[in-house]
This record gives sequence, structure tokens and C-alpha cells, in this order.
Amino acid sequence: MVDTEREPVLILMFGATGDLACRKLYPALFELYKKNHEFAVIGLARRQHTHESYRSMIDRTLDQNSEQRRDFLERFYYQPLDVGQPYHFALLKNIAEQIDTKYNLHGNRIFYLSLAPRFFGSAAENLKKAGITETQGWKRAVIEKPFGHDLASAKELNEQLLRVFDESEVYRIDHYLGKEMVQNIEALRFANPIFESIWDHRHIANVQITLSETLGVGDRASYYDQTGALLDMVQNHILQLLILTAMEPPSRFDTEDIRQEKVKVLKAIRTMSRDTIANELIRAQYKAGVMPDGTRITGYHNENNIDTDSKTETFVAARFFVDNYRWSGVPFYIRTGKRMAAKSTEIVIQFKDITQNPFFCQLHKAGPNLLVIHIQPDEGLSLKLNVKEFGEAGDTIPISMNFSNHHDSKSSTPDAYERLIGDCLRGDSTNFTRWDEVAYSWTLTDSIVAAWNDIPLDYYEAGTMGPSSSDELLARDGFCWWPLTKME
Ligand code: NAP
Repeated sequence: MVDTEREPVLILMFGATGDLACRKLYPALFELYKKNHEFAVIGLARRQHTHESYRSMIDRTLDQNSEQRRDFLERFYYQPLDVGQPYHFALLKNIAEQIDTKYNLHGNRIFYLSLAPRFFGSAAENLKKAGITETQGWKRAVIEKPFGHDLASAKELNEQLLRVFDESEVYRIDHYLGKEMVQNIEALRFANPIFESIWDHRHIANVQITLSETLGVGDRASYYDQTGALLDMVQNHILQLLILTAMEPPSRFDTEDIRQEKVKVLKAIRTMSRDTIANELIRAQYKAGVMPDGTRITGYHNENNIDTDSKTETFVAARFFVDNYRWSGVPFYIRTGKRMAAKSTEIVIQFKDITQNPFFCQLHKAGPNLLVIHIQPDEGLSLKLNVKEFGEAGDTIPISMNFSNHHDSKSSTPDAYERLIGDCLRGDSTNFTRWDEVAYSWTLTDSIVAAWNDIPLDYYEAGTMGPSSSDELLARDGFCWWPLTKME
């Protein structure tokens, strides 16, 4: 890990007028500015802005009660630029040098590519041709997801980037890795011997990872219809959650050691073939239904900008196995979907039952021990235990011990983007994905795509937790999805 904490830097913000920049990146930069990170920003996009109109646009994205807005905004400059036009980059070189000198930024540069992925390669190439990446200081490129749409396209993109940047300079973002409770998985496991000593096939019956959304496709319809739930959610966020749950403790808490352990999990995940996939995976699409709040939802194929005969999946459930000693025979069930009954991301660890003890006959009434990691919208942990009912003669009842990151502390908890951009400013790439990690995740996803054409698309009513085939996937192993719980 390079410790460049608090070194000043010029941020070249591509896609400066886009949704992500306005909703997430400017507010995150503002929080970092308030924490004394020193930077100046050049906003880059095709549409016309003056520095002033650009600053006004950013101002509208910020908390209007904060005092330091004016100072912060003065550090923003705008340069109209089309990534396909090399001469725009020649102009950019000049303005970058002027701002560098004005703020004494020592040639340190972050290139934040908040652009549609098809522009990543040409942006990098034109930056290099114009000499903007040849700088006295350090340079880093932040690349938004999706990183390719299969292994071949990801490789091509990677090659384009590596012509300009070293692997250690590429920060591939998966914003899930910036979330509070995702970062807490490692602490929970490796700082608590009571968990780590039982974190294996001898004590864990199964792991369930749910990432459910109540929203539909909104204005991302045409993108989503080309992508689907597998590529949109499983290839990146869900695999990351699975990896963090399953990885071995790194020998040292250093970036490369941690990344090495993560890659090992990906390599150990059993790939699916045409022969096995029907038993391992469900793909489904929502049809019309009613959400829990009473809102009527039209079926996916009737949504605006979606083909009426679209076969794109809006839901995936799957059973993965991690073929190593620790996880031998333990199913990792995952599910994700749109227009589901609840918005929630959580990981449930179901522990094995004790087979012989005096309370055995009552355990079925009480249920197994569960550890639930609530990632969003709630942030916290629940541990479900069994105790004797207080005061009564004999029944064993379940109790839940909860830790919740309450609203008060939440307001001071950094957002995922603030955390990740902060890491990038400091030169810490631990929570960004290394190339081999991306490559293995695509190998796995490609194997699913190659095999799944033979399995029929299932359907589920909007406002439910998916099709009944998703429940059957677990029922065959004697398990069920645990209902999502809200924290107190
Ligand atoms: P967006 O709203 O469509 O914004 C795209 C930006 O790119 C705009 O500023 C646009 O400005 C600029 N642009 C388009 N064509 C350009 C060109 N030829 N040259 C220079 N600039 C160009 O997209 P977004 O939602 O912000 O997403 C940006 C990236 O983040 C994508 O890779 C996306 O997958 C990823 N991402 C987004 C979200 C999210 O919540 N939005 C979440 C995760 C990842 P002009 O039209 O003025 O050129």
C-alpha cells in the first residue's frame, strides 16, 4: 500500500455532467474536502458549461447548509471534451498544467472515468497520446463498472488500459466494497475467534446471500435489457460478498495478500456446465404484480423501452460450491432481482444443528443459529440463538441479539463512494478489484451464460421474493430462504 495520504492531486473527472457524478461523486468529494483532502477538479463532458455554470450544477448536488461550499466549488473547472476528439485532449493538457501550477499539485493525477464503458479505452489512449499521463507525480485511473461484458471484452479493455497505466495504477470500482457492513465482514470474521473457529463446513450448514431490489429498470431499461441480473449484480456485487464470506484469513493485512486470498475463492468456485446448471440456477423475469405498498406493477416486457418478447432475466437464484477444504459440501445460495417484495442486501450464515442433546427435540421449534449481516438498507448484525423460555417450564425459544448502526452514527458514516475515493486519494487499492479477480469472475459468469440457454426462463409476480423454483432450489437440500428481517 502506498501511503500518499493528504498529497494534493488534480482529479480529471470524465462524465462530469452524468448521473453518477452528480448523485455520488461530488457529494463524496465534498465530504473528503471537509476532511482536509486537497485537490482541484477539471470536469469533462461534451456539453457546454462555463466554470461558473459547472460550479452551480455541482452546488445543487451538495448539502446546502454546509459552510465550506464556496471554497470547495472554487476548486472546480470545466473543459468541454469529447473522448473521441484527440485535439480536445491537447487543450486539456494545457489547462491541467495551469491548474497543477496554481494549486501546487506536484503532477499527481487521478483520472476518474465515470463514462459509459465503451469510452474507457479511447479516453485512456487519448490521454496518453496528448501526454497528460506523463506527469512528474503519481497517476491513478478509477474505472467504473461494468468492466467488460464477458471475459473477452474485459481482456480487451484491460489491454487498452495497461497500455497507459500500470496494473497498480488501475482502481476498478465495485462500490459494494466501500459499504460499511461489507468492510465489516473481514473484521467480524478475523477479529472474533468465536466466529472464525466455527467458520467452516463442520459447523455451517449453508450461506444465503440476498440482494433484492423493489425498483424496476427505470430509465436504464435499454442498458438493463442487454445486461440482465446475472451481469448487473451477480458477476460483481454478489460474487464479492461471497468471496468476503468464504476467503481465508490473509497472512498479513496488506493489499496484495488480501487480494490473493480473494482470488483463491473465485478459483475454487465450481463452474456450471450444461449438464449441471438446471439443478444449480434459476433465471426468471417479473410479470405484473402488486408491491407490498399496494402499487400495481406492469410486467417487465411491458416496461418502456423493453422488447415485448425480451427474455432478459430480472432475477437469478443459484447454488454455488466453493471447492476447498473449509467449504466442502456447503451450499452458498444467492438470489437477486428487481421488483421484489423488499429492498435488502444481507448475508445469512446458517449454522448446523446439534444432533444429540437434551434440547434436541425442541430445537425444531426454535430453529438453527443464524448470523445475519445486514448490509443495506439496515446496517448491522443479528445473531439468532436458542434459550429456554423465561419462567416457563421447558420450551426452547429463539432470541435475537442485534447490533444496529443507528441513524445517529450513520450520518457520520462515510458513504461507499466517499470511502473508496478516499482510499484512491491515499493510494490504497485494497477495496478495488485486481485484474485477475475480474478475469476469474468473468470466467465463472461466462460459463453460466454458455450453459444456461437450455434452461427455461421462469416468471415471478412483481412484489414477491421470486419464483417458487427459487424456494425449491433450497428445499431439495432440506433448507429454505430465511425471511428478510428489519433491524429494530
Ligand atoms: P450518464 O448519466 O449517462 O453520464 C454519462 C456522462 O458521460 C455524461 O457526463 C456525458 O456528458 C458524458 N459523455 C457521454 N458521451 C461522451 C463523450 N463522447 N465524450 C465525453 N463525455 C461523454 O452515466 P452515469 O450513470 O453517470 O454512469 C457513468 C458510469 O458509471 C458508467 O460506466 C456506469 O455504468 C457507471 N455506474 C453508474 C452508476 C449510477 O448510479 N449512475 C452506478 C454504478 C456505476 P455529455 O452528454 O455532456 O457528453
